[in-house]
Amino acid sequence: MIPYSRQSINEEDINAVIETLKGDYLTGGKKVEDFESALCEYLGVKYACVMNSATSALHIAYKSIGLKEDDEVITTPITFAATANTVLMTGATPIFCDVKSDGNINEEKIEALINKNTKALAPVDFGGNPINIDKIKEICKKHQLYLIQDCSHALGSEIDGKKVGSEADIAIFSFHAIKPITTCGEGGAIVTNNKELYEKSKLFRSHGIIKKQVWNSDMIELGYNYRLNDVACALGLSQLKRLNTFIEKRAAIAAYYDEKFQKNPYFSPIKIPLHVKSAYHLYPILLDRSLWCAKEDIFIELQKKGIGVQVHYKPTYQFSYYKNLFGEMKLQNTEEFYKAELSIPCHQEMNMEHAKYIADTLLEILEKHKRCKT
Ligand SMILES: *Cc1c(COP(=O)(O)O)cnc(C)c1O
Repeated sequence: MIPYSRQSINEEDINAVIETLKGDYLTGGKKVEDFESALCEYLGVKYACVMNSATSALHIAYKSIGLKEDDEVITTPITFAATANTVLMTGATPIFCDVKSDGNINEEKIEALINKNTKALAPVDFGGNPINIDKIKEICKKHQLYLIQDCSHALGSEIDGKKVGSEADIAIFSFHAIKPITTCGEGGAIVTNNKELYEKSKLFRSHGIIKKQVWNSDMIELGYNYRLNDVACALGLSQLKRLNTFIEKRAAIAAYYDEKFQKNPYFSPIKIPLHVKSAYHLYPILLDRSLWCAKEDIFIELQKKGIGVQVHYKPTYQFSYYKNLFGEMKLQNTEEFYKAELSIPCHQEMNMEHAKYIADTLLEILEKHKRCKT
């Protein structure tokens, strides 16, 4: 099976891990700071605080802005469950805003959802394609909201040469195995230019405990153990050096697909604007309405041919847990996006022959599917 995404680990990565395993510090050592500095430099931000997952990072981002009961966060339903789950963990309420045809939050629909309880916007750069940062920042400024940007798909994405995540109050990255880079399978980070939010994040990451003199310490917040260890950070450092080559490879496959799929009658890929660079965590396609009824069959047939497609995402509000909390809801574009979307393999471990096989097989399978009435 060719998965929709996968990690790439080379000798250099392995050696970095082994070297750290043989060293004095498996956790709490210098690799953590080194990785954080490297992230800051890569992204052009002042502070980074690495953690054991992006879920932890999201939770801490929300804790750092002081989110609590009665507060609301406007977010997207087209994301992994963790984006909204971590809002719930603080006692606050996620409010779902509809998406545009590219799967990103529809910034035109945000303001209607803002009220006196709204504390933050939490958009996601879907698939690596950046949100409209200028409009989002304008809304945040006008209504005095924090921007907590879930950039889990977008490490290395850019708008006009500026790295995604560098303009939010807090941006979150994931180093899960199949995200743009990995730190031994799990990992995440928050980055920020705000010293106070950074200090708070560090506190929450490690039990809320600060060191005083000699053995004396104090606990001033109810914190967690969300630390990332040195072995993971050593891999992260090594992977970060390779990130640009990963993105180049994914972009080359995406460019091949774009060309090959031009004007096909079955689906449209998501267009990445010219002034934007995507990290291409995903290569999403949107099936024509007449094929929505056949999506399950198409999915199964592709898997049978060894093509590991996936659907990103079932809207968060459709999960039972959310229905129990908030009742049934339906956002028109979100519903349609979910019916149309398929992510096809696009990652740095593929070659052009894989890409050709995937493209040809996909078109072949769609060719023989009867269109449904719409
Ligand atoms: C993967 C992902 C997460 C969670 O990341 P973990 O590191 O696995 O906790 C959060 N948000 C989005 C958009 C993701 O894709």
